Amino acid sequence: MRSLYNDGGAATALNWIDKRRQGFSCTLFQSTGIRFCGMNVQLGDGVRKGIDFSDFNKLRLEVEYRGPAEKFRVYYRNGIQDPNINDSKYHEVTIPVRKGSYIYEIPFDTFDVAAWWVESQQLADEPEHRVPSRDSVVHIGFDVGTPMAVGQHYFHATNFTVVAPWLGKANRIWWAIGSLVYFVVTGLLYNFFRLRIQLKERHDEMFGLLKKLQEADTESAHFKRLSMYDPLTGLLNRRAALDLVEEFAQHNSLTGTALVVLDIDHFKQVNDTHGHEVGDEVLKGVSAVVQHAVREGDAAVRWGGEEIVVICPKTNAEGVVRVAEKLRAEIKHLRFSAPDLAITASFGVANIRQGESFSQALGRADEALYEAKKNGRDQVRGQK
Ligand code: GH3
Ligand code: MG
Ligand code: MG
Repeated sequence: MRSLYNDGGAATALNWIDKRRQGFSCTLFQSTGIRFCGMNVQLGDGVRKGIDFSDFNKLRLEVEYRGPAEKFRVYYRNGIQDPNINDSKYHEVTIPVRKGSYIYEIPFDTFDVAAWWVESQQLADEPEHRVPSRDSVVHIGFDVGTPMAVGQHYFHATNFTVVAPWLGKANRIWWAIGSLVYFVVTGLLYNFFRLRIQLKERHDEMFGLLKKLQEADTESAHFKRLSMYDPLTGLLNRRAALDLVEEFAQHNSLTGTALVVLDIDHFKQVNDTHGHEVGDEVLKGVSAVVQHAVREGDAAVRWGGEEIVVICPKTNAEGVVRVAEKLRAEIKHLRFSAPDLAITASFGVANIRQGESFSQALGRADEALYEAKKNGRDQVRGQK
């Protein structure tokens, strides 16, 4: 409930200009004594039971003022609970006037219990009545205070309200909801990032695992390779060669494949005369010659001891003899760490015939080798 008030005398003329929008004017004529006029809003019963503004920290007064005043007096009255006191507790603050439209934000803690009120109630000896309170506000209002300047004062109070701080009671629920949202969002973000880290870790783990598998793969390939080759000479070993031949025979005809069986002559003597290490050196030298001489697609195999088998696909009878002769010549010219050492080798050759197995043809090549040995060694036998 809004109302205007003045000192009640003839010294002031007080009028609403626009009550709906709280526009009023108040003219003070030249006079003596206390003169005032202002606007008041009554809350509750206007004496004892009012509104609890404890959780509000400011009064906001939006007012357009034209006139000679240099300060406003803003006040509120709090309902008195003491039955012996009939007047409600009066709080006031004085603020400087800004001309034109202005929004005044007046903190409640700048209000003091008015000294004149304490005095009028004869409460000077009771300190609790000097302490401001706003748990039951029954009036708020403003005027130009005293001494009031002579002339016309025009007010247009567009807004007169109370402001709650962020953590006031009114906002507490929002604060609680906000906190909840904050924690939920934080939680989600936390989980999101934790998940990302976990995913990354898992990815790294997977990557590590893949790498290990690859390594194992290359490792197993490495071991597989190792298991296929003879460690001393680097040639294929007999088992690997037989596997390859078997695999090849499943999809291809072996017919026409040429076989060369090579056996170092009097190798036992090399070992006996020069030692096992020189024997190894000879084996390695002969193997290198064979490996180097064969074509791509041919397979040089350490068949056992100092016996080497060369498998030459798509090679005719003349071709295989040529290969063997070439090898024989090269082996003869090999030189070793033992200065006077020279060696020879004997060869048996055979082409796998139609309907003949690998081992049958190899048997024939072996027979040819035996012949070469028998006939004085250092020669190629097998083809007519
Ligand atoms: P032939 O001319 O009749 O073939 O006579 P040979 O002495 O070469 O034949 P023999 O089969 O009697 O001897 C083969 C020797 O080869 C016996 C063995 O000690 C030796 N030998 C087998 N493997 C290796 C090896 O890896 N290193 C060395 N140093 N010697 C080996
Ligand atoms: Mg031999
Ligand atoms: Mg032998």
